[in-house]
Formats: sequence, C-alpha cells, structure tokens
Amino acid sequence: MKLDLVESLGSRYDSPQQIARVVTEDWAARNLYCVACPCDFLTRLLANTRAVDLFCPQCKQVFQLKSSRNWNQTKIVDAAYASMISAVRSSNVPNLVVMQYTNFWKVRNALLVSSFFFTETVIEKRKPLSSVAQRAGWVGCNILLKQIPADGKLRLIADGVVTPTHRIRSQFNQIRPLSSLAVGLRGWTLDVLNTIRQIQKTEFALSEVYSFETQLAAAHPGNRNVREKIRQQLQRLRDLGFLQFVSPGRYRASMNADG
Ligand SMILES: [Zn+2]
Repeated sequence: MKLDLVESLGSRYDSPQQIARVVTEDWAARNLYCVACPCDFLTRLLANTRAVDLFCPQCKQVFQLKSSRNWNQTKIVDAAYASMISAVRSSNVPNLVVMQYTNFWKVRNALLVSSFFFTETVIEKRKPLSSVAQRAGWVGCNILLKQIPADGKLRLIADGVVTPTHRIRSQFNQIRPLSSLAVGLRGWTLDVLNTIRQIQKTEFALSEVYSFETQLAAAHPGNRNVREKIRQQLQRLRDLGFLQFVSPGRYRASMNADG
C-alpha cells in the first residue's frame, strides 16, 4: 500500500474539492483491498453525486470512502438522517473508510468501520437546516464513531503507518460472527460490547457492566428490564467468542481489535 495520493494529476481540475475527490478516489481504487475475503483490489462503482463507492468483485462487499484533511475520531458528518436510518434497519449500509490526508497529499490515517457495526445508537440526528438555507428543513446525520466498539474500527493506516493486510483480515474474521445477528438484536449486543471495551479491563464483574445501565436504557427506550438484557448480551458475546465466563458474575474479555 502506498501513501502518496498524487501520482499524476492533469490541469483539468480547478477547485480544491474537485482535486481532493479525484486524488482520494484514485488512491482508494489503487490501494484499498477487501477485508472480508482474499481479494487484493476493489472496483469503483459508478460515481454518484456525493459518496465514493467501491466494491469487492469477489464477495460483493461495498465500501464507501470519506476523506478529509481533518481527523475526528469522535464523529463525522454523513448524509440524510432518514435514509441512513432506513439503510441501518435494512442492513444496507456499506463499510465506511474514513481517510485523512495531509496538506502534501499524503494519507495519514485510514479507518475502516465495518458495515454491521452501524446501528441506530451510532446515528445522531442533526438539527434541520434553517429556513434561509437552500435546502431548508433538510435533516442530516452524524456518525458517532466514539460509540462504535474498537473491534469494528480497523486501523488500515495509523499516523502514516500501514497495518499489514493479514492482520486487518484476521481482525475482521474475529468480528465477522456479529454479522450473522439480525439487525434488531445487534444494536444491544454492540452497545454492551462497547461498554466492555470502555471498562478497559481484561477481567471484569457484572456490576461494572451494570454501571452503564442508565446509558444503555437511554439508547434503548422502551426496554424495562435493562439488566436482564445486559446479561443476555453477555451470553451472546460469549457464544460469539468475545468473552469467557470465569465464575458467576466474573467475565474475561477474549480479544480486542487493538490487541
Ligand atoms: Zn471481498
């Protein structure tokens, strides 16, 4: 994988946005690979107005590239709220590659957010555009990267250092079992996984997970028995290989994307 964005660029592009789009899209097509199968290249889908989309010709995974000079691991701006929520509900969200480039057209960071880590918890509704805006009343959304467990955010490039492909693919294989969960169940499972990662301990107690009860209840309004729901998710995470039950009320986290 190369980090240089510009290999050849004609003079046909004048606006900085246009140049950024062309060079980042070109870089993605030359350097990105499929994380879900052994395919070492991705193919560009026909350009649409906003997003840059690529897909794997072997396993048909779709990847969307979002690039910027800024690096914000807390949240990023996405498109319309309603269409994003409907994509989440129908498991129709692409994998997202968030890329940062420098003023010298070098790739500094690239983070791949796995498609099945997009749940309603991580989509934040923005305020409608004001009545003086061209698209008055339009409602966009933010993707709350911070709410996504580290397991689902694969660091393809971290501060200019490329993570070896085999390591990324093995990280993806560890999270792949989550993709088999129905979207309605996955939200809870991923939110509990995120709390476990926030505890930042290899071994932890049920009471430590319960300390996130208020947050989890707020993310899932309408659920009365939050503690029971938490215990169900811990069992599910154990069955999927993310946890071990050590003794009653004690758990050991089996792996972490950073580990
Ligand atoms: Zn593939």
